[in-house]
Amino acid sequence: MSPVYVVGHKNPDTDSICSAIAYAYLRNEQVKKGQIKGVTEEAVPARQGDLNPETEFVLKKFGFEAPELLTDGTGKKVVLVDHSEIGQTLDNIDKAEILAIIDHHKIGDITTPNPIVYINMPTGCTASILKTIFEYCQTEIPPNIAGILLAAILSDTVAFKSVTTTEKDKKAAEELAKIAGIRDMMELAMEMFKAKSDVSGRSPRDLLYRDYKDFNMSGNKVGVGQIEVVSLDLLADIKDALYDEMAKVKAEGGYHSIFLMLTDIMKEGTEMLVVTDDASIVEKAFGKKLEGKSVWLDGVMSRKKQVVPPLEKAFA
Ligand code: MG
Ligand code: MG
Ligand code: MG
Repeated sequence: MSPVYVVGHKNPDTDSICSAIAYAYLRNEQVKKGQIKGVTEEAVPARQGDLNPETEFVLKKFGFEAPELLTDGTGKKVVLVDHSEIGQTLDNIDKAEILAIIDHHKIGDITTPNPIVYINMPTGCTASILKTIFEYCQTEIPPNIAGILLAAILSDTVAFKSVTTTEKDKKAAEELAKIAGIRDMMELAMEMFKAKSDVSGRSPRDLLYRDYKDFNMSGNKVGVGQIEVVSLDLLADIKDALYDEMAKVKAEGGYHSIFLMLTDIMKEGTEMLVVTDDASIVEKAFGKKLEGKSVWLDGVMSRKKQVVPPLEKAFA
């Protein structure tokens, strides 16, 4: 019997991987308890691409293997976590059976022919929602699962510095840290950020795609990537190469614009590299003009709250 695949978005981040692992575990527990009727096949976590160095660090720390690679949904039963956009999901998603979606982004363009479990909350992280679902299902969270859920929250909220952070994320993180036996979660966060900041030996294309999402903005194809580092000095030598790569990808993919957020976790701001058909879109969206190849956006750390909404408005 083919399994139920639980999968996060393309160019997976720590939330997409860890929430897939945690939800697959929870779903299997629910099947054991008879809480799920109908599709009772084993749930298996999957990933749509290579793990980033932060996620590799987290899985190793809490003793998990990388989930199996899955890129095509044809004939598969799937649960989607951390996304609900066609551009971010499995190829041929229309030929898959979607059983559930658990997400914390704006509602995307994926639809289903049947009613499904669809849980979306405006939290900083999918993992915070999963914490609530474990409680709702009266299922205990094992310490290693608590560890990866905590790591996902620290990653998505940038240790609670991002404007996406909610009280629910903070409360979930505290409780998960207790279960996981993590005394100092900021120490864990710093270890993760150091791992995340490792850009050595990676090609510009790898770095551009490490955390990259496609959007359709009023009929324009727009890509927004993000590289988070503890200091922008780490990117100084490769900035030009990244820009050249963005220009190449823009031409190859028929984009209107590609934005690459170079986010300084410590300074809490973003240098935004931009290749675009229309530079005025930058000023329209962010109230600041491009200076050469980029613009500095103080306090901007969140793609989904501080970059995508103003861009969508500017394109409308
Ligand atoms: Mg994500
Ligand atoms: Mg997320
Ligand atoms: Mg992120």
